[in-house]
Amino acid sequence: VQLDKARNLPTSNSTSRLTTTKMAQEYVWLITGANRGIGLEMVKQLLQSPSNVVVAASRNPAKATELQELAEKANGKLHLVVLDVTDKESINKAAKEVAGFLGGKGIDYLINNAGVVLGGEDTAFSLDVDVLTKTFVTNVAGPAYVTQAFIGFVEKSEKKTVVNISSTMGSIGSDFGAIGASYAISKAALNMLTYKEAKEKPDITVISMCPGWLQTDMGGPNASHPVSVGVEGVLKTILSLKSENSGQFFNFQGQHVPW
Ligand code: NDP
Repeated sequence: VQLDKARNLPTSNSTSRLTTTKMAQEYVWLITGANRGIGLEMVKQLLQSPSNVVVAASRNPAKATELQELAEKANGKLHLVVLDVTDKESINKAAKEVAGFLGGKGIDYLINNAGVVLGGEDTAFSLDVDVLTKTFVTNVAGPAYVTQAFIGFVEKSEKKTVVNISSTMGSIGSDFGAIGASYAISKAALNMLTYKEAKEKPDITVISMCPGWLQTDMGGPNASHPVSVGVEGVLKTILSLKSENSGQFFNFQGQHVPW
């Protein structure tokens, strides 16, 4: 019961509350990997505006104490769901749960944020194919399956936007050299996924977004910017997107990134 309360699982009360507030302008965001780093900071910043409803997806919400604390203070605007992007069953289960508490509403912004760096400073000539494959499963197959499972919600929303959190490390034009090969190759592939999704569904807006080198577990303490700065820029850029931006690659300063 405690867990259900902390996770803000749907109850008949919360469902009817969402329905009755339907008239107010509200935008629904779903963020994967929302329990720490960039995902958690996005949740925090989005909850500062009363117009946002946030679905924070993570592998283990029962252990996500910061998310639980936020949910308790969010007046029903933050929903925690279990979602492992490498597990199709978990993704489909999350989609069913989300359908339950959104009560017919769509998802305006689907943020594929969860990601991993497993290869460290590996290179094309030293990489381990098992590591490359595992990196792909999370960084490429994960966002592909998540978007497949949630596209119906996105299509029925007003903003119809999908953001694949990528990296300039995956940009050939940004010329980052030889190291970090497995990660860079996975993000280059993610960028092609963005392009393919945009081409297949012109009714939605899909972009790749580099959040900047940020001080998180992944970015490390010496990264260029605090996570709050990068996330502020990411959100500002997302909110200013136009439909003609679909299939493009941006950084957190709103600039185009070369493929
Ligand atoms: P962190 O390592 O700090 O956090 C990664 C997040 O992804 C965690 O919430 C983690 O959950 C989650 N995650 C990993 N695997 C899975 C999975 N299988 N299912 C669900 N969630 C998963 O990274 P950042 O916050 O820094 O990075 C977020 C995104 O931004 C990534 O896609 C990354 O590639 C990208 N990025 C980051 C940069 C940086 O400098 N920080 C620069 C450029 C891009 P758990 O706690 O369960 O492991």
